[in-house]
Amino acid sequence: MARGCSRGCRFCHAGFIYRPVRERSLEKINSYLKEALAHTGYEELSFLSLSTGDFTLLEELFCQVINKLFQERVAISLPSLRVGSVSEELILFLSKLRKTGITLAPEAGTQRLRDVINKNIKEEEILEYTQKIFALGWKQIKLYFMLGLPTETKEDVEGIYHLCTKILAQADKKVRLTASVSLFVPKAHTPFQWSRQLNLGELQERIALLRKLFQQNKRLTLKWHNPEMSLLEGVFSRAGRELAPILVKAYQKGEILSNWDDFLHFDIWLKVFAQEGIEWEEYLRERELTETLPWDHLSCGVTKEFLLKELKKSLQAKTTEDCRSGKCSNCGVCDFKSKEIVPKLNKKKGREFSFTEPNWEQALVKKEQWRIWFKKKGFSAYLSQLELQKIMERALRRAKLPLAFSQGFHPVPLISFGRALPVGLESEEEIFQIFMAQEVKEKSFALINSFLPQGLRIFHWERIDLKDKIVLSRREDFKLSYPLAKAHCYVAKMDFFNKQKNWFFAKQGKRKVHNLDLKAIMQMKHLEKGDILISFNWDVNYINPLVAIKEIFRPNLEEIRVIKIKQYMN
Ligand code: SF4
Repeated sequence: MARGCSRGCRFCHAGFIYRPVRERSLEKINSYLKEALAHTGYEELSFLSLSTGDFTLLEELFCQVINKLFQERVAISLPSLRVGSVSEELILFLSKLRKTGITLAPEAGTQRLRDVINKNIKEEEILEYTQKIFALGWKQIKLYFMLGLPTETKEDVEGIYHLCTKILAQADKKVRLTASVSLFVPKAHTPFQWSRQLNLGELQERIALLRKLFQQNKRLTLKWHNPEMSLLEGVFSRAGRELAPILVKAYQKGEILSNWDDFLHFDIWLKVFAQEGIEWEEYLRERELTETLPWDHLSCGVTKEFLLKELKKSLQAKTTEDCRSGKCSNCGVCDFKSKEIVPKLNKKKGREFSFTEPNWEQALVKKEQWRIWFKKKGFSAYLSQLELQKIMERALRRAKLPLAFSQGFHPVPLISFGRALPVGLESEEEIFQIFMAQEVKEKSFALINSFLPQGLRIFHWERIDLKDKIVLSRREDFKLSYPLAKAHCYVAKMDFFNKQKNWFFAKQGKRKVHNLDLKAIMQMKHLEKGDILISFNWDVNYINPLVAIKEIFRPNLEEIRVIKIKQYMN
């Protein structure tokens, strides 16, 4: 909904390189919204920007779109909002949406350090805001902090814990607080581009101090970023082109998904640095104010003089006001001759938000129920049950069928699927049932196929009684196709299975192992060359058909095809 942020947090790369703030007009947002919902069938919408709470006409936007979203049963969510940036009415409204938890970003534990980074949030404001949040029923709160910020002292680190306990002291005993701590990495084009980054030992020491403090309170959880990953990020975020070969070499040694903790092998990176003669810790050092930086030839519009001025102010813990609510601080990015002036934050005008909750009882109408058959073949076999449900729901929405929905702020269509097909198996016939809020003409269903991915096709539909519940299949037939060159092998294994009296298989359940007799569950017979028919009787017990096939045939999965061809409800 907008680009850029003018708050000026001194560590924030996005806050400088995306200046100035440019808001989309309400007309544009409304038209994108209409088009996007019609073309995607998405069931949830979120208003995103670097600082959504700062959007000048946020309340008006809500007032304009909310009725449409309710009518179309599209849920709405907002990202974390800056303390004090939205009206109380809007917070009250948000409290009625799904309360999964609320996120705030004080970034530093003490006022002094928040001033150093120009966060411009006072402790009283944080406490006042969180008190309101708890009064409205939130039970989970997440706070973002940074460790290792310039000028940070032991007192600042302890301040993170103290702020968390002060916030928690305002809430009832059920409230849980999570502090998520990332490690400061100086970024190019920010006032901290000259600052030093802490080394591994210092980071570990500060994390250990926090962990010790957080252990004192069971309602507090501490999460922290992997320090080794932050160090690598720090090295590359301020390096020059001389480090490009390091990336290639580490990649050649398998470092492909290093941004995932379990795929990062710091030792490999250290080896590559050593082999290339790079003293990587040098990249974490403080930069001289006079030295040429590797990105000096690039400009995002904000001048180096402004960044330097901001750095100096930060060291004196002096703040700079937001140019949208205060005066311009001459960062250099705006062309004041053009008409595109940064929109001012208008806190007085246009911040009212009024909303009447719909009558949910009236909204729940079930006029018809339909049973729909579909095929799930080819690449669509790899869709999980949850993905399948989402895709079907979106296709139904895009086909503009009058679906019936559950009540409340997170409405879901009243749709039920038959027995879930394991991922990787194809099927000639699957079913689901769906309630409609209005009468639907039979031909309207044909449109759904144009919104389904390759391999997913509905092929039959019929109106059923409103009271009919979905029935899970009791028996299912699968066809196993194997390469003709290996016919002797597959036929021999089938014959061997058929000759056995019992075939016990240990199936690992959630809590215990179940001993299943596959002979009681499945029967096999040869169809034409290359195909075996396998009939499963789920009344006896359920087993993933692919697991059973693997147990009996030990096949190379790439050479077989397993497809469900029939299901029996009784
Ligand atoms: S030039 Fe002034 S008004 Fe424009 S973004 Fe920079 S500080 Fe804000």
